[in-house]
Amino acid sequence: MKRVLSDMYFLGRKCIFCDKYGLYRLADKRVKCKHCNKKYRLQKLKDDMQILYYFYLEISARKTARELDFRYKPIHRKFMDFRKSIADYCNAEARRLNGEIEMDESYFGGKKKGKRGRGAKNKEIA
Ligand SMILES: [Zn+2]
Repeated sequence: MKRVLSDMYFLGRKCIFCDKYGLYRLADKRVKCKHCNKKYRLQKLKDDMQILYYFYLEISARKTARELDFRYKPIHRKFMDFRKSIADYCNAEARRLNGEIEMDESYFGGKKKGKRGRGAKNKEIA
């Protein structure tokens, strides 16, 4: 866990949004990126990364909250956000793949006609 934390510290040196060096500290302890102008709190990022890490390890929201000393509800909400992000990504990916398959079918002259699969003609029983 210590190693992860130190990695995250260096991750904070680079802007997480545009991946460029050029962060500077603001008076309210947030950092601001001079390239994309995004402002964020490093501590919040560290917390989020840690929560994500626990999520990745498939540790329950309740246990994560207990171990990281957070309240359960925000952790639970975060976990749901992670799941939703994953689901959205999968759906988008599936749509993209379906699009490709449809394209292939039109390229090869559309769907085959006639019976397919079990009981189809010209099919030997293995
Ligand atoms: Zn940036």
